[in-house]
Amino acid sequence: MSSRIVDICIHGYTSDGRGVGRTPEGEVVFVPGAIRGETVRTQIVHQGKTCLFGEIKEILVSSPHRVSPPCSVFPDCGGCAILHMDAEEQKYFKKQKVADAFARIGGIDAQIEDTLSFSPYHYRNKAQIPVAQGKDGIACGFYRQGTHEIAPCRDCLLGASFIGTVIDALIAFMKKYNIAPYNEATDKGIVRHLYVRTGQASKEAMISLVTRRPLPHPQAWVDMLLSLDLGEYKIASIMENRNEKKGNTVLGNKNITLYGKDHIFDTLLGVSYKISHHSFYQVNPEACAALYEKAIELAGLTGKEEVFDLYCGIGTISLSLAKKAKRVTGVEIVGAAVRDAKENAMRNQIKNARFIEGKAEEVIPRLYAEGEKADVVIVDPPRKGCDEVLLKTIADMKPNRLVYVSCDVATMARDVKKLSELGFCLASPVTPVDQFPGTYHVETVALLTKLK
Ligand code: SAH
Repeated sequence: MSSRIVDICIHGYTSDGRGVGRTPEGEVVFVPGAIRGETVRTQIVHQGKTCLFGEIKEILVSSPHRVSPPCSVFPDCGGCAILHMDAEEQKYFKKQKVADAFARIGGIDAQIEDTLSFSPYHYRNKAQIPVAQGKDGIACGFYRQGTHEIAPCRDCLLGASFIGTVIDALIAFMKKYNIAPYNEATDKGIVRHLYVRTGQASKEAMISLVTRRPLPHPQAWVDMLLSLDLGEYKIASIMENRNEKKGNTVLGNKNITLYGKDHIFDTLLGVSYKISHHSFYQVNPEACAALYEKAIELAGLTGKEEVFDLYCGIGTISLSLAKKAKRVTGVEIVGAAVRDAKENAMRNQIKNARFIEGKAEEVIPRLYAEGEKADVVIVDPPRKGCDEVLLKTIADMKPNRLVYVSCDVATMARDVKKLSELGFCLASPVTPVDQFPGTYHVETVALLTKLK
């Protein structure tokens, strides 16, 4: 670590929420935890090829947007990078991140709407909390950034607010029956993770313990859980998930129902979803609904359209828009997700949706070669963005509308640039949606149409 200390005025942010400023000599410095408009006394801790990395020693001029996060493990836990910004600054940061990506990566001066944002806390409907032997007894919490050491935390701001009560009960239960947490190094012990899923609309909760070997006294655990007051939530499912493997994969393949059902339900945009232990489901349903509503609005459906929903997961976008389209075809690579999508379509009596398992970049060229076309294509790819072959095929198919939904604006900007070379251009502003308040992530959605 260098002993160099400089005072830096922060003028903007990196894409992961670190403050950016310059030294008096003009070198760029990244400072985690610093806010735009602040002056921070900064220790230079690392010299990169094109920039310096600093650490705040003292805040000389503080921003009115700075808040002290009501979290005991920030910033140690590493889950939330921007909890020190108030809601307004988080929205600004996300909008600017989107504008920067389009300008730098896409070479496009895109119009960006204000970030849509929702409840800042307790928005996640899924939590997986590691359990281990800590210095002062059994610890449930979060891995310290880059380590396998647990920072105990019972009040995560992002998960359901009742989780602390369940953690207290788990520790009491394990102490009473002398049940050891799992130890990765020795492969001894039993309890690995506490895994909780909730239906925000249904208010159903699933509580699962991930174990290395059979959980002793399961009935006592069930009785203990059922005696808890979880506020507006009620326990619909208590599970044990057996993970006998070494290594850091959280969930194992074997599920044992200890109480109730082996799934919960939730409703999103009028469609009911069955959520099993392992099913993929969007973690912030409130923000996700807003994202889908925007995507559906941009799709401009009248009831006559053939729609392709590519990278469809369990079909949540397809099933949300099916009523407004002639037919929707979802394409998804994960077989289990396709089975969930089909089952959800059937349970909701949606008959004009079909789901195809496979890679979008293989399925779409095949359908196109067989003479199928879409009037509207929606893509919602993983972080790496869309495959080139897919973009080329969509361009050849010439849909009237292409709605791009993205969880990584850098690859979206890259793909929009490629699409502009293939005859498509942005036909709406880009809307950032804050599905993950407190973190540097942002989802975006925009419409593209053929160049006239
Ligand atoms: N639209 C869904 C899921 C988006 S996440 C939702 O809103 O919930 C991206 C999805 O793309 C994941 O389900 C992932 O399994 C799937 N996927 C990844 N690569 C793919 C590919 N090459 N072809 C089709 N699906 C793919």
